[in-house]
Amino acid sequence: MDLFEYQGKQYFARYGIAVSPGGVADTVEEALGVAARVGYPVVVKAQVKVGGRGKAGGVKLATSDDEVRLHAGNILGLDIKGHVVRRLWIEHASDIEKEYYVSFTLDRPNKVHLGMLSAQGGVEIEVVAEENPDAIAFLSIDPVIGLDLATSRRWVAEADLDEVAREQAAELLVQLYECYTKGDCDLAEINPLILTPEGRVHALDAKVTLDENASYRHPEWEEFRANETEDPREKMAKERGLNYIGLDGTVGIIANGAGLAMSTLDVVNQVGGTAANFLDIGGGANADVMAAALEVINADPKVKSIFVNIFGGITRVDEVANGVLEALKRVDIASPIVLRLDGTNAPEGRAILAPHLNERLVTEATMLDAARRAVAMAKG
Ligand code: GDP
Ligand code: MN
Repeated sequence: MDLFEYQGKQYFARYGIAVSPGGVADTVEEALGVAARVGYPVVVKAQVKVGGRGKAGGVKLATSDDEVRLHAGNILGLDIKGHVVRRLWIEHASDIEKEYYVSFTLDRPNKVHLGMLSAQGGVEIEVVAEENPDAIAFLSIDPVIGLDLATSRRWVAEADLDEVAREQAAELLVQLYECYTKGDCDLAEINPLILTPEGRVHALDAKVTLDENASYRHPEWEEFRANETEDPREKMAKERGLNYIGLDGTVGIIANGAGLAMSTLDVVNQVGGTAANFLDIGGGANADVMAAALEVINADPKVKSIFVNIFGGITRVDEVANGVLEALKRVDIASPIVLRLDGTNAPEGRAILAPHLNERLVTEATMLDAARRAVAMAKG
């Protein structure tokens, strides 16, 4: 999960990383309120989960109420690379002496953490890497050993940060590493990390990606999720514990196993249709899971037919068949359903369904035929 800048800064603050005082605003009025509270001059910043906001006109300095009105008004609703701005972060503006770059990510092939530090921040790190690769100091960190202050001090020297900034930066990098590891981030990036004319070092931007695999030990992440503009179908699916991804097509898909679900998408495409979703109901599909899956797909007005593709391995097809019938009793389904049931106990499963088949609940023997049928139903 990617965080907005303001959420990233909140996350940083938990680990003691210095950020500017500020607040969020969803309207011009709220922006004025925050500006009054933190004191002029302020920076008005678009909150979108995409980089390069500055260049796109999403970061503006304001020295008065009138300027806040102007910039907040312009930035709210602005489209930045396909992301429409709904929220602003207003913070007390900093004077900048120097802009640095720092990030931690996972170096997967080498099974270590990778720190990148540069005295040339403020611009995209890809540009620095291209034009001046020597300006980036890389640090491989063994996750078992971690990053200590002594190593961090050598690192800031190697990156050639200004003398006056080094001790503060070294401490901040250790804090950021703590945030990145204990906070279960896939990425923690500060660009720019600034040195002020008064000699203070702090984070002016925050880019944080949280590792969703660790969400079970971070109940506090819920507050970040609450503000996520999520697909309502995906939200509904998540509440029902389903592994669901909404797409734009007209054929709703239910399959057991991620591989089979992906193949089902491919086959639907192959025969000229479009999938409305990806949905893997996993092993042991019972009536509850099937009902939940049908409910979510049923809530999508674009869906015109539903393709249930089950290959029973450990999952028994007779149980799936009972699950489908049970689910149909509970949920009023708007679209016709095509079933392809194969594998363990398939004959038993088909026998269970046989008395219930009609023009809105049909079976096909193969995946390809079932896809053709579902696509035809979606079109006609
Ligand atoms: P990004 O463009 O999405 O990376 O947004 P940033 O938060 O990094 O802001 C872009 C640029 O705006 C920074 O590199 C700074 O040069 C500038 N900027 C942001 N905040 C301040 C501030 O408080 N004072 C000054 N003088 N410039 C700022
Ligand atoms: Mn930035």
